Amino acid sequence: MKFFTSTLALVAVTSLTGSANAFSSPRVAPSIVRSASSPLTGQYAKSTSTELNMKMFSFNHNKKAVKPTLSKKKQALKFLCKTAATLSFIALATSAAAPPALAAKKAAAAAETVEHLHVGQKVANYFRGFGLPDLAILAVISAMPVIELRGAVPVGLWMGLPITQVLPACVIGNMIPIIPLLFLLKNDSLKKMMKPILDRAEKKSSALGVGSLEKQWASLAAFVGIPLPGTGAWTGAMGAFLLGMPTAVAISSIFTGVVSAGLIMSAITLAGKKGGLTALAILAAITGKEFLSGEKETEESKQDFLEADPYWDQSNVPVNVYKNKAPFTGKVVSTKRIVGPKATGETCHIVIDHEGDFPYWEGQSWGVIPPGVREKDGKPHSVRLYSIASSRYGDDMSGKTGSLCVRRATYWCPEMKAEDPAKKGVCSNFLCDTKAGDEVQMTGPAGKVMLMPEEDPKTDLIMVATGTGIAPYRGFIRRLFTEKTPAGEAYEGTAWLFLGVANSDALLYDDEWQEVKKNYPDNFRLDYALSREQENKKGGKMYIQDKVEEYADEIFTKLDNGAHIYFCGLKGMMPGIQDMLKGVAESKGLDYDEWLKGLKKSKQWHVEVY
Ligand code: FAD
Repeated sequence: MKFFTSTLALVAVTSLTGSANAFSSPRVAPSIVRSASSPLTGQYAKSTSTELNMKMFSFNHNKKAVKPTLSKKKQALKFLCKTAATLSFIALATSAAAPPALAAKKAAAAAETVEHLHVGQKVANYFRGFGLPDLAILAVISAMPVIELRGAVPVGLWMGLPITQVLPACVIGNMIPIIPLLFLLKNDSLKKMMKPILDRAEKKSSALGVGSLEKQWASLAAFVGIPLPGTGAWTGAMGAFLLGMPTAVAISSIFTGVVSAGLIMSAITLAGKKGGLTALAILAAITGKEFLSGEKETEESKQDFLEADPYWDQSNVPVNVYKNKAPFTGKVVSTKRIVGPKATGETCHIVIDHEGDFPYWEGQSWGVIPPGVREKDGKPHSVRLYSIASSRYGDDMSGKTGSLCVRRATYWCPEMKAEDPAKKGVCSNFLCDTKAGDEVQMTGPAGKVMLMPEEDPKTDLIMVATGTGIAPYRGFIRRLFTEKTPAGEAYEGTAWLFLGVANSDALLYDDEWQEVKKNYPDNFRLDYALSREQENKKGGKMYIQDKVEEYADEIFTKLDNGAHIYFCGLKGMMPGIQDMLKGVAESKGLDYDEWLKGLKKSKQWHVEVY
């Protein structure tokens, strides 16, 4: 009974402290800040001080009123955690001390007489019915998702087996499904089938993708190794796969975690009250760190340490800091396919670590120099540009990474009626094939055409994309809605995203847009043109210009009122767009060329196509 009381107490505490992310918080202390005391020089001062991150901006909170403030949530969490911790200590302190073997016998006897069996015990009884030996039963239970080794170790004790046999059986059992799982997930159909589970695993393990491969290894081992609700080898394996972690690295890290979880569970089980208290203390120390520093973290988690002064001032945007002759060497954090099996072609999301040494602004591009030399003349490959798909803070909001959204360029040979690998795109294939830890030679940041106008926070943004043209808008949208940036806090306009792709499997970052739409229904609009799934009003394929045309009146009014319109993606999108806009302008009695000239003059017209 004592063991179960302890476990229950632990579960209560850990559940209330917010599971996995409690110990692997993605928040990284800011390392690059603009010096608050020095005048604006356009340089980024390196500092570890968090004081400089304190707000220099006055915020308009109207738009964000839909979300409760983080500090209130933290306060509630803190109160709940403290209450749970106190109750747990009382429960542990009042439970009678007894030798572990006796406790095990008592537990078994109580379970049998009262017939109130623990899930693991019921599963064990079920397998015993098939005549399976006890160690095999333990391995089977350990192999099960959710229960895993953490559930099997106490069952082993309940069976009266020595821990020296229980631990190896549980470790082996827990690892058995993990290795094939890591390989099976490479299968597209299986991945699609498992999408809901993978989406959940991705959220729970999102913090694992931060930092170097060594850091990822350690985060994954901790994720698997500390037996908190929502963590474990199954979720860890799915997270590692989704983050593109090399399989061998993932296996060694998960194995370390499983052994560690086994040791912790054994300690709790063997040492009875002492073990329970020790584990409780360890877990409280780990999870408590988060809630005890709740207020501080709220300040730190603001994305405001890479801002100009004022934040909308674009006079010192970094451009071409790294050139072809002296490129920057970035390191791949993760490479992930982000389209479904029926998408036309492959598109990958690639996160690159620049250690804070390669700052950029939303809407800029990075150049990538693919390794190797050109076949035709033996000279190094030329640089290819890729729009940066994250905000300046990166996906992990550390200010040390940037992301690209790259479509793999393939060549369809009409004679062969097949893809010709000899003619595949050099750089896009290099990038889509990268693995965590690979080096990438980079130039830039390039371009100012696609910057966001932030001086007037009421400015409407109309963002039109085909395929990977979505990349710069992801940076915009994260800055305005997902991150706690001064631009986002101030924003009161409407950001309207139009995305054109072939079919729903080819949609890019749909889950992110849906989340933003849910949180900011008054400030974010979303429209898709799925050319192979939808029809335009004439009964033809729905191309991006057809979708934009549906809202032509509204768009023209917004542009009249100062909205900015952006176009990004394949070059081929522009003629259709221009024809459509010309038709609409003429139907309104406007001179299209004059109208366009006016938009360009007032810098409301932004085009980046390739
Ligand atoms: P390359 O090797 O340059 O080949 C180009 C094409 O030619 C390929 O389709 C290839 O299959 C074909 N080809 C090769 N050999 C032959 C042959 N012998 N005969 C016929 N065809 C052949 N791309 C993105 O994916 N995402 C972005 O966010 C992005 N942003 C960009 C931003 C800007 C400002 C610009 C200018 C471009 C951007 N691009 C982006 C496009 C990107 O720069 C590259 O052009 C693209 O990835 C193709 O490069 P590659 O090296 O893979 O192909």
